[in-house]
Amino acid sequence: MICTGCALLCDDIEENDCVKHACRIGRAHITSMQETRPMVAQEIVGMDVAIKSAADILADAENPIFVGFGNCITETQETGITLAEKIGAGIQTFHTEIFDDILDGALKTCTLPEVRDYADVVVFWGTDPMNTHPRLLSKYAYYPRGEKRQRGWEEDRTAITIDIRESYTASICRDTHIIPPHGHADFMGALMDALRNKVPKTAYDKKRILKLAGVLKKAEFGVLFAGADLIRSVPRDMLIRLMEQLNSVSDFRILPLVPGYNLRSIAAQLHGRPDRGDGGAGSGSGVDLQDSDCVLCLGFDLMNSLPADRINGKTIVIDPNETLQSRYADVVIPCAAGGVDCAGTAVRMDGINVELLQSRESERISDQEIMRQLLEVV
Ligand code: SF4
Repeated sequence: MICTGCALLCDDIEENDCVKHACRIGRAHITSMQETRPMVAQEIVGMDVAIKSAADILADAENPIFVGFGNCITETQETGITLAEKIGAGIQTFHTEIFDDILDGALKTCTLPEVRDYADVVVFWGTDPMNTHPRLLSKYAYYPRGEKRQRGWEEDRTAITIDIRESYTASICRDTHIIPPHGHADFMGALMDALRNKVPKTAYDKKRILKLAGVLKKAEFGVLFAGADLIRSVPRDMLIRLMEQLNSVSDFRILPLVPGYNLRSIAAQLHGRPDRGDGGAGSGSGVDLQDSDCVLCLGFDLMNSLPADRINGKTIVIDPNETLQSRYADVVIPCAAGGVDCAGTAVRMDGINVELLQSRESERISDQEIMRQLLEVV
């Protein structure tokens, strides 16, 4: 089976007693016992009642907004967009702007097998994949031998972490730069100076930044893994300029490491739409979350991401699992999980289309079917 625990979409999972080959996140995702029940006003109800209540709220809403979309199959995203268009709802995704720049060709990227086969310098910036995409290092980015990287990680690959803390990933990297919270842009500016052979005017250790620039310049096939913390902390054009600068002196690609197993798919579907919203830095939405009188959370725990005072209006949660938000939502509609008890398609973080098979029977219906039923009645 394919694991939908993160955007690596590992395809070698054997579902037996121990969910063979899955990491701890994948195993918890596949064997989750945190299933939620249909609820209205925190009372358990039948599915029909929950869907009808959600439809009533959506029909009455003046400024509805849909948030999430990263943890559902592509087909659900398509139906969700149609529903949003029908009722005039905004759609807010998070950390998807970087995919827009990749899709526009402003940022050069590559596939995960290319990372495994060719990458000699990997930079993890604002991300801790050991805890978010646990098999990234063992399958692609650091430990495996690849076509042009036959001598193993000890000799063939250099891993560098730039982060606000000494993360698990940092602990296995040869070079780690710890920066203060909100320090990404300053550090990036200093690094760009160093790449231009200028001594950076910065409070950071100048010698270390010059040394880092030297390592990046020598990369034959460099890959920058950009985490959510980096993406939301630096202006989009600054990241583009860094990549241009890196590519003027060496050969560098970027791959985003962001939450949600199917975020790249929704980014592609919304790409180029003027009304699209993204919770990342410097972006807006057609409908603002704070002004909305109805928030539909699709596979997304809003309360876990935003302060409660930024959430106004009624909330509808469609999710396979109980979340912080579902405990306080006006309506909760449980759904099947993509790749576990519902089939569909998804797009891996590097843009590869993946077919998800249903690996287990259950009585839960898919979020696409829920969206379809909502579409019929609103
Ligand atoms: S790395 Fe991601 S996709 Fe792979 S098993 Fe772990 S959670 Fe699942």
